[in-house]
Amino acid sequence: MQPRFTLSADLQCSREPSGEAVAALERAVAEANDTLFVKGVPKGVPREEVGRITSWSVGGTTLHLVLESGGYTRAHDALFRFRKHLAGVLGKHQVGIREILVTRFAVVLTGDVPDSAIPRLPFIRSVERRSGTVTLDLAVSAADLEHRIPDRILNLVEEKIQAREYGGKTEHWELVYESGPKERVYQGNPTEEMEARHWIRHGASRGQWIYGPQAVQLFRAFQSIVEERILGPLGFSEMVFPKVDTWDVLSRSGHAKGVYPEIYYVCTPKTRDPAFWEDVSDHFKVTGEVPVDLVREKVDGPIGALCYAQCPSFWPFVQGRTLAQGTLPVRIFDRSGTSHRYESGGIHGIERVDEFHRIELVWLGTAAQTGEMAEQLHQVYRGVFEEVLELEWRSARVTPWFMAQEGMVGACGCETVGTTDYEAFLPYSGTWLEFQNVSVNGDKYPKGFNVKIQSGEPCWSGCSGIGLERWTAAFLAQKGFDPARWPEGVASRVGELKEIFRFL
Ligand code: ATP
Ligand code: ZN
Ligand code: MG
Repeated sequence: MQPRFTLSADLQCSREPSGEAVAALERAVAEANDTLFVKGVPKGVPREEVGRITSWSVGGTTLHLVLESGGYTRAHDALFRFRKHLAGVLGKHQVGIREILVTRFAVVLTGDVPDSAIPRLPFIRSVERRSGTVTLDLAVSAADLEHRIPDRILNLVEEKIQAREYGGKTEHWELVYESGPKERVYQGNPTEEMEARHWIRHGASRGQWIYGPQAVQLFRAFQSIVEERILGPLGFSEMVFPKVDTWDVLSRSGHAKGVYPEIYYVCTPKTRDPAFWEDVSDHFKVTGEVPVDLVREKVDGPIGALCYAQCPSFWPFVQGRTLAQGTLPVRIFDRSGTSHRYESGGIHGIERVDEFHRIELVWLGTAAQTGEMAEQLHQVYRGVFEEVLELEWRSARVTPWFMAQEGMVGACGCETVGTTDYEAFLPYSGTWLEFQNVSVNGDKYPKGFNVKIQSGEPCWSGCSGIGLERWTAAFLAQKGFDPARWPEGVASRVGELKEIFRFL
């Protein structure tokens, strides 16, 4: 996809340039085309690929410019370079540049650009197709050009073309380790059996369960295994992360790029004045129904989302700061609350729910420290699944589509950026279930939240999400419901199952 840019702009001058000033202008244009715009362009790039002023004229106090370029010193970059240069040149003749009016900005794309790859944004005034080319006529101000809006639009087009090739949210999957088959002692669906035994019951909200004492005994057993075998030995300390993620957090974490179909939105009241809400209260008191439409009129926001990925809301703790050398790698975890995802039709048993419980590990340090920590985690996890839970499991390297798109794979010539999924076999369905992951996220979060380390090396981070529902589903699906047949390390931690509820 080769872009060509054409930009027409009117530069408003503080007064009409004199004959001498116009002569200086002429020299400035020639100099810009010959040297200023070519600066930094690699040798061998054809001249027509590089920005140049193709026409100019002065009418009264206005300087009309037309700039054209290919991919190098793009027309808009050339414009701002020229303005800076011009300020000095015209300043000598007591002429200032007041403002820039963009009268036309067109991008011509060559190659296969399907309609679906062109974003629907107010910046795109019209799209015109001729044989083999697409011309985007952009409605952009000088400020938009300074914010590199055209470049971002082109990146987006590129991303959409690639996303089509990925076919949605698919991941590239590559097996790392497989435990091999284990003895099959149970074939049932654990959610159904937990329900029948009154260990769990549907909550009032979609994809939500109320966990009874027995289910929580299992959760706590798993947590204590995680504490003893993973968090303790590897030196992770507990924190409490917020569970409402603002748009600022989601913007910096990158989730704002595409998380919208899967989040629970958070709203706040327009005011906490009871009088403002009295009609809502009264409506409920009289009808017994909450007037949802009326409520909708009285709330602000959404201000963000309920916790989705768990680690983003930690980052403001270190935002804008430099981590002291002796503290690295920083190792922390959070298990203080729920995560929420709108899984839509995908909801399934306790395996795929809208409200779930997860222990989230986060670590920060140099690239080497971050990769090393991921390796150590892989080792201790393997020990837990082999020796304690005795699961039939496997691990696989997956490349999330967004990372592939952002070119993060293999960044820094380093192979370690990416995610490893851990999956368990579910005998009742014959399928594999992802029950946790380990991700090395490179400098994505430190960059987004402006976090540095003392040595000046790039700061990297990683995270690992241990899903308690998924551990429970995997364990029960393989080991069944008879604690006598459970691995000792689990059975002893669960203890005797509590029968608190009996129903008539
Ligand atoms: P899946 O592909 O199964 O939807 P994911 O890739 O969306 O999983 P991640 O975003 O990697 O999951 O989240 C990390 C961990 O959080 C998962 O390994 C899993 O343990 C847990 N998790 C994610 N979504 C859910 C859910 N809807 N219900 C229960 N646990 C979940
Ligand atoms: Zn995370
Ligand atoms: Mg998912």
